[in-house]
Amino acid sequence: MSKWYQEPLRVLDLALEDPRGQALDQWTAEDVLEICREINANVLNVAIVNSWGQAYFKTPQLPANPQMTGFNRLAEIIDEAHKVGIRATGRWGPSQNTGICEKHPDWTKCTADNASDGGNACHNSPYGDIVIDTLKHLCDNYAIDGFVFDNFVPHLCYCRFCRDKIAEECNIDVGTPAKLVEAELATLTFWAHADAENFLQRAGKVCNKHDRVFFGAPAFSSRAFDVIFAESDTRDGITVRDSGFEIRKVTARARVDKCPTVVSSPYGQLRYVGLPKPPAHIRQEFREIVISDASPSAVARDWELLHDRRGLAALGTVFEEIKAQEEYLTDRSSLKHVALLLSARATAILGDEACRHVDAAKGWYDVLSHAHVPVDVILDEELTAECLAQYQVLVLGNSPFLDDDQVEAIRTYVNSGGGLIAGHRTSQYDGSGLSRHSFALRDVFGCEFQDVMDEAWTYIGFSSDHPLGDGLDIDTLVMHGEIEDGVTPGVREQMKVRPLGGKVVATIYDSIAPVDNGLPQDRTPATPGLDTGYPAAVVNDFGAGKSVYFAGQIDRLFYRIGHPVYKQLLLNCIALAAGPPIIRINAPTTVEATFYEQAETNRTVIHLLNHSYDQTFPAGVFRPVGDVIPIHDIRVSLHLPDGIRTKKVYSLVAKETH
Ligand SMILES: [Zn+2]
Repeated sequence: MSKWYQEPLRVLDLALEDPRGQALDQWTAEDVLEICREINANVLNVAIVNSWGQAYFKTPQLPANPQMTGFNRLAEIIDEAHKVGIRATGRWGPSQNTGICEKHPDWTKCTADNASDGGNACHNSPYGDIVIDTLKHLCDNYAIDGFVFDNFVPHLCYCRFCRDKIAEECNIDVGTPAKLVEAELATLTFWAHADAENFLQRAGKVCNKHDRVFFGAPAFSSRAFDVIFAESDTRDGITVRDSGFEIRKVTARARVDKCPTVVSSPYGQLRYVGLPKPPAHIRQEFREIVISDASPSAVARDWELLHDRRGLAALGTVFEEIKAQEEYLTDRSSLKHVALLLSARATAILGDEACRHVDAAKGWYDVLSHAHVPVDVILDEELTAECLAQYQVLVLGNSPFLDDDQVEAIRTYVNSGGGLIAGHRTSQYDGSGLSRHSFALRDVFGCEFQDVMDEAWTYIGFSSDHPLGDGLDIDTLVMHGEIEDGVTPGVREQMKVRPLGGKVVATIYDSIAPVDNGLPQDRTPATPGLDTGYPAAVVNDFGAGKSVYFAGQIDRLFYRIGHPVYKQLLLNCIALAAGPPIIRINAPTTVEATFYEQAETNRTVIHLLNHSYDQTFPAGVFRPVGDVIPIHDIRVSLHLPDGIRTKKVYSLVAKETH
């Protein structure tokens, strides 16, 4: 039987970030629970200690918020919540505690040059025990259902407590100011994360011993949490659909750690201003969280809700949908078709040039999402033969850094019938970033690395008799180059490769620089020249599987400029390597589809979310969704393998059997 936190959650996250508690006596626990019932929330997550280290309950370990006189807000909230069957959890960012840092300056986290690291207190100072004792106190005295840890800072600290611990555990004298050689710094960075993990494990043990649930942010990559609790990416200008890609990174982590995910997003449109997002934006944003395999949490400050409740009805609509369709959201796993690698290792090694990998992955994600192809974003640790065997095709985009075990897993996967799509420098380096001077996957690709072609502009020409050119005007060469000077480092490069048994289905053409056009060559596409004979794409049969390798970066080009010619090419790669999909959705590209399987009921669940918005983006400005443009006549067709029949096809929103 599943536990309560493994069911779909509908969370209202009440923030109380105010050192003077100005709003605290203007509302009661009953008021907040009334809102929870109005919006169909089943969990109320409430701040238990604020950034100033003030508690919203009475405890010997921490001072209470000064406005909390004659009442105990947390106790009231837990009581009222449980009366109406709502779970009550407490949110705490334990690192930030300006009160403790002012009282005990030596407990503050320190930088290498001995400067105080803001208002963050170190868990290796006596403050660590205060945090643990506070959790114990809460477990012993309150019927609180769980804790949400956010803002826990796991970075290397140079306070005197950490220095002593480092000397003892790592035998390294940090020095004042810190003088460390590179190898020592690497050791200590690793140590700091392990040390932070130990602290989180201590906190987790307190929770689990008392049968309370421990929620935490994925940034810590901790194994201590029962549930991943992530804040949604609310960068300026990110669209609702793009926020889904960001959520996929979190749910990939959750899939590996085998724990559920809650994704939180603000109720307000602007941070620190009590103006709710428009209702259509709230509905679409929280639906996006649900179809991306997470439970939604809306975070609002108490004074925001006192001031403006116009967003609550929209939130209530989505929470009601979740409640009504709960059985279709429980115990689900994604339908396995395409696995798309988003490598944290590549991102870390490439640093400022992470776009060489990340833009390629995002280009693929966008193409697959627009074409309604089921895709899972997968992590480095999922490149195992066992995990890959679930998928029809693995897309590596440009994944230069693969260790020997990963290479072997990919080889086994393709040999056993899997499809592989890889490009550019994939497998050219080992897991630590050292060049192999060749592709480790050359036998699978059917081609071998020779050199880099670093020309501002090249072109790709396709064989007329190969399906990789389907839907393209074969007589018109495909442009390849650095469209935005300086914005896309390295996008001009193609690999010079030599066939090793693979079939060359496209070749690279050079270009002729236009004369006297008044613009620098690198910023103006040059006209096509002659066929260099170097392969641009190589298709190879390897064992029972198939590989498509492309020498250039058409995935990054699609991400940067979105031209349909690149999209067609990428989709042709998928068709070649993956074969026909079981489910086809005939809908505009603005409709997003996600796909799940429920093993227990043998059900496949498809979510369709219409992202056709009135939203427009003048340069540098973010506009929320104001309206959703209706779409009709979407067709879903099933192409089932022999021996599999459908029992029932049912649309949950229209409540119709087909
Ligand atoms: Zn410290």
